[in-house]
Amino acid sequence: MKMKHISEYRDKEICQNFIDKIFNLHKKEIRLMEVCGTHTMSIARSGIKQLLPDTITLLSGPGCPVCVTSQTEIDKFIKLSQIRDVIVTTFGDLMRVPGTDSSLLKERAEGADVRIVYSTLDCLEIAKKNPDKEVVFLGVGFETTAPTIASAIINAKKQNVKNFSVISSHKLVPPALTGLLQNAEVKVDGFICPGHASVIIGGKAYVPIIEDYHVPCVVAGFEPVDILQSIYMLVKQVENNEAKIEIAYKRVVNFEGNAKAREVMYEVFDPYDAPWRGIGVIPQSGLKIRSKYQNYDAENKFDIIVEEAPEPKGCACGEILSGTKTPYDCSLFGNKCTPDDPVGPCMVSTEGTCAAYYKYR
Ligand code: SF4
Repeated sequence: MKMKHISEYRDKEICQNFIDKIFNLHKKEIRLMEVCGTHTMSIARSGIKQLLPDTITLLSGPGCPVCVTSQTEIDKFIKLSQIRDVIVTTFGDLMRVPGTDSSLLKERAEGADVRIVYSTLDCLEIAKKNPDKEVVFLGVGFETTAPTIASAIINAKKQNVKNFSVISSHKLVPPALTGLLQNAEVKVDGFICPGHASVIIGGKAYVPIIEDYHVPCVVAGFEPVDILQSIYMLVKQVENNEAKIEIAYKRVVNFEGNAKAREVMYEVFDPYDAPWRGIGVIPQSGLKIRSKYQNYDAENKFDIIVEEAPEPKGCACGEILSGTKTPYDCSLFGNKCTPDDPVGPCMVSTEGTCAAYYKYR
């Protein structure tokens, strides 16, 4: 199917066509996980769950970068903002995530210099304009953003900008999926794989999922037609007892991914065993700055050791991110936890499952 305009990816008839095909095909009880927070939001916004057969369950996964950042990491960000002469720069979603005793927003209200940026290159400019201050970028995200942050560090080194650094809490998608599949409580028959991260890692990154776990993977775009097409492809694989990697987002993603972007990413970062909120430590699932670039590593530059912090009491973000609970299973949802007064990050982030359920319930 060749389509050209965005309206075609939202076309009611094309959507209905996929829904009919899914209804005709499905026989089994099927549990599919949309890994990416942007998919969660798009599914909620377009009411896709309500259009599917009752036997098909869509679960949210660990693909919202702010949501999977551990409480201890959030506390570190807050501690950084309290250091004199430090300008903290971040993407907007992190501002309102509650840490143990504060948030970046509260710190800013009390005088900390915390700035929202739209690109890490903006941080370099801020650093150049403020040579007497230290500028730190809070590196939260997946393979989608890690190459651009690596590029900013390489540029800072080339341009001899010494007052710029990054605290890296980057995470990797494929190890998170294998980590989930190793948990006996997590029951997933197929993954709707993230369109953004797959641009960089390519369809081939999911080979271990199909070979070691026999779980089908379909890379999907973010419009209703994209998502319904990927669900149809997954249902077809599950019904035929197949496990293949398919790409339902070929206008952007290919099997090989972007080798140049990965080269830049691994020039600066090294995989390590990273903590995920509510899930725990997953082997080789995060990115730390290599020693070659240690002068740009905020953890190396500043004393930001904080105590291990538990998650907020009663918050089920961890279980929601691993697909074992939905926001409706959290007793705080919609009463003690709302977008105006969030308890956990899944209610704060624009890609958070709780925020999606709250907005479109
Ligand atoms: Fe956490 Fe709030 Fe979601 Fe409950 S509703 S899981 S407290 S973010």
